[in-house]
Amino acid sequence: MKSITDLEVGGRVVLLRADLNVPLDGGRITDDGRIRASLPTITALVGRDARVLVCAHLGRPKGVDYAARAAGGPSLRPVADRLGDLLARSVELASDAAGPAAAKLAGALADGEVGVLENVRFEPAETAKDDAERGRFAATLAALATRYVGDGFGALHRRHASVFDVPALLPHAAGELVLAEVAVLRELTEQPRRPYVVVLGGAKVSDKLGVVGNLLKTADRILICGGMAYTFLAALGYEVGRSLLEADQIGNVSGVLSAAAERGVEIVLPVDLVGASRFAPDAAHDVYPVTAFPADREGLDIGPETCELFASKLADAQTVFWNGPAGVFEFPAFAAGTRAVAEAISQVRGLTVVGGGDSAAAVRQLGFSDAAFSHISTGGGASLEYLEGRTLPGLAALEDEA
Ligand code: ADP
Ligand code: MG
Repeated sequence: MKSITDLEVGGRVVLLRADLNVPLDGGRITDDGRIRASLPTITALVGRDARVLVCAHLGRPKGVDYAARAAGGPSLRPVADRLGDLLARSVELASDAAGPAAAKLAGALADGEVGVLENVRFEPAETAKDDAERGRFAATLAALATRYVGDGFGALHRRHASVFDVPALLPHAAGELVLAEVAVLRELTEQPRRPYVVVLGGAKVSDKLGVVGNLLKTADRILICGGMAYTFLAALGYEVGRSLLEADQIGNVSGVLSAAAERGVEIVLPVDLVGASRFAPDAAHDVYPVTAFPADREGLDIGPETCELFASKLADAQTVFWNGPAGVFEFPAFAAGTRAVAEAISQVRGLTVVGGGDSAAAVRQLGFSDAAFSHISTGGGASLEYLEGRTLPGLAALEDEA
C-alpha cells in the first residue's frame, strides 16, 4: 500500500477521503476525536503544497434525492469550522458535494489550502448498491482532483463511491491514520502477546457475533457486557426482564458458547446487573444478581461484582481489545461499569486498543486521556470487520496499485 510520501502532491488537487463523522448534539460537536485524528495527514499534505479537497460523510441523511437530503442535513458546516479552528487556518465549505460549488472550490484552492466538500451522503449514488450508478458518481468526484488519499478509516468497510470506487480512478495512497489503524489491527491479529483479552459490549449482539466467532481463533478470554450480554444470559436460561434482547440470536449465541468451550476460550458474562425501572437518566434502579433479575426491570449497566470480576480477568492481560460500552454510559447513573472497564484496561501494561465511535466517546466523556490506552481507534465497524477476518472494500481499493 502506498503512503502519501509516495505520491506527488505539490500543486495538485488531492481529494482526501476523511472520516469526520463526529457525534452531534443539535449542531454541536460532542467529540471531535475523528477530526483531530485526520489532522496529521491534512497537515502533511498542506506542508507539501497540496491543494487539499476534503470529502467526508456525516450522519445518515434521509430523502429520495440530493435536494431532500441537503434540506434535511446534517451539513458538514460545524465540522469544517472545527477543522479550521484546529488547523488555525480558514477552511472553506462547498455548498454541494460534487456539483458546481465543489468544482468551483476545487478550482479556487491555492497551494497549501484546505477546502471541504458538503456531506457526500447527500448524494444517494454515494451508497448505491448498483455499481454503474456508484461508478458515475465516483467519476464526478474524481474529476475534481488529480490525486486521491484514503484516510477515512472508519468508512473503509463500506463499498461506497468515495471510499471504494474513486481510488481506482486516480493515483492514490493511504493516509497516516489508515496506516496507523491497520498497523494496530495487524498487531492484534498476528501473534498477539498473551493473555489476549477482548471486552465486547454495546447495543447489538447481531452486529458483534461474527467478530466473536472469529476471535475464538485468537483470543484467550472474551468478556461480554453492555446490551449484548442479555442475549448471552438469556441463552443460558436467565431472566433478563425488559433488557435489550435479540431473541432470534439465541441459537447463534448458544453456538458461539459451545464453540468457545471446545476451543478452550473463556467467555466471561456479568454476574450482577443494574436494573432500572425504565430507560431514562433518572430511573429508579438497583443491583441484582443475574440469578434474580426482576421481570419488570431493564438492565442498563453491569453491577459492582461484575466490575471486580472483569478487572481480575484483565489484570494479567498482555493484549486487550475493547469495543462497546458496558452500559448506557450516556446516563451518569449507568456509567459506572464502563468507567470500571476503562479503568481496568488503563492499568494493563501491554497493547490496549479501544475501538468504536461510542466507546471512544465514552472514555473521553468519562475523563480518560487518550494516553491511558495504546490506541483509540476511530472506526468501530471497520475494526470489527477487520478482526472478523473480512476484506474491507476501501482497504482493498487502496492496496490495489494497478
Ligand atoms: P461502539 O460505537 O463503540 O461500537 P455500539 O454502537 O455497539 O458501540 O454501542 C453503544 C451503545 O450501546 C451506547 O449508546 C450505549 O448506551 C448502548 N448500551 C450499552 N449497554 C446497554 C444496555 N444495557 N442497554 C441498552 N443500551 C446499551
Ligand atoms: Mg456505535
